[in-house]
Amino acid sequence: MRTFSIEIKIILGVIFFTLMITGFERYQLSENITTQFENSKRSKNKLLLDTMLPILSLNISLGLDDANKEYLNLIVKQNKDIQWMQVKNKENQVLFQYPNDLKEKEVVLDGIKICGSEILDTITNQSVGYIKVKFSDDEYEQVRMKNKETTIRVFAVALILLGVLLYFLRREFKYFRKLTQAVLVYDPKLNNFDLEKSKRTDEVGVIHNAIVGMVEKIGSYTKLLDEMNSSLEEKIEERTRSLQKANEKLEQMTMTDPLTKIANRRHFEEYVENIWELALRTNTKIALVMCDIDFFKKVNDTYGHIAGDEVLKNVAHTIASSLKRFSDLAARYGGEEFVIVLYDTDIEGAWELCEEIAEQLKNPKNFNVNGIEIAPFTMSFGVSSVVPTKDHSYKDLLEFADEALYRAKESGRNRIITLEFDTNKLSIH
Ligand code: GH3
Ligand code: MG
Ligand code: MG
Repeated sequence: MRTFSIEIKIILGVIFFTLMITGFERYQLSENITTQFENSKRSKNKLLLDTMLPILSLNISLGLDDANKEYLNLIVKQNKDIQWMQVKNKENQVLFQYPNDLKEKEVVLDGIKICGSEILDTITNQSVGYIKVKFSDDEYEQVRMKNKETTIRVFAVALILLGVLLYFLRREFKYFRKLTQAVLVYDPKLNNFDLEKSKRTDEVGVIHNAIVGMVEKIGSYTKLLDEMNSSLEEKIEERTRSLQKANEKLEQMTMTDPLTKIANRRHFEEYVENIWELALRTNTKIALVMCDIDFFKKVNDTYGHIAGDEVLKNVAHTIASSLKRFSDLAARYGGEEFVIVLYDTDIEGAWELCEEIAEQLKNPKNFNVNGIEIAPFTMSFGVSSVVPTKDHSYKDLLEFADEALYRAKESGRNRIITLEFDTNKLSIH
């Protein structure tokens, strides 16, 4: 259903009431004027007849027809609004008629214009005749015309006043329209509200200023919110970056031995498991070396734990830098024990690497820690190798390497012992 705006409703209401009231008032007034005019006309005509009747009665009774005519001619002459007059005696003979040529039947009896009366004998009170007078309605028409003109004038003035009123009404609404339009297109992000505060102190001004104030507040809060959002985004980015760094560090920490900085046991186990799978698929040999510093306890006991740590770092570095292939990995297995996994390497190849490491250990830097000269030490190596099969895991190979190391220690240390992988000799311990 179509709804009309308040502005249209008010305008239509004002037009309706103005026309209603003006029309009703004019109708009442013109009714009153007409009635008053008719009444006064009627009484004036009646007065004329009442004045004439005694004289006519006397003249007729005395048979003074000429005097009668003279008198009536005088009356007609003096009263310009008499259009027609007829006097008859009781025998219905026309005694006087003005004008002569107008017949009685041509005279239409219509309300105020026609007056008639019996002419009574003043003594006997008996009818001696009848008089009929038709008065002109020019005056009446004039009054009606004047009334009509006045009505038109009143309506014209009412319409002019209505126009002025509507002009002011529309001007006030134009103000509201502008305000509504500005509020409708307002976007806090674009800050596109271009209305200033009003100097008006009436209700319109108060509403206008309240809305302008509200929009200003929305604008400043939006700005604040945007600033907060962007600084929040920056903070989140910064946190994410530092979190990434911490994660990387944590990952390094979980993969790296904190003291020697080479791979830790966990990393080794993950790596060797993958390498085992790869070697299984490619039918490639894997070699494992387990090595342990000989009489390391003595080093600690003699030079202290800190010096012992430095020795461990040196040995780890020596082992790691001896590796040649990308697929080789050395890890600290625990304490002063290390493990090396060598992809695509047989026992002989691994043995050579151990020889190389043992040779490197003779390097004086391993016995000189922070200016303290440490008595030379050696390492024992246990080596084993196998082409992986589905029935075994790297742990089986590790068992053999460990057994070989054990044998190296048992047989006097500072040596390399190799042990062929043999499924029949598994779980030797
Ligand atoms: P063996 O030849 O039989 O291996 O004798 P060992 O003294 O090397 O072996 P043992 O198992 O008797 O002692 C190992 C020592 O290694 C004891 C321990 O204090 C030391 N050790 C283990 N981890 C660390 C470490 O991280 N730092 C230092 N400084 N010493 C360590
Ligand atoms: Mg040892
Ligand atoms: Mg040990």
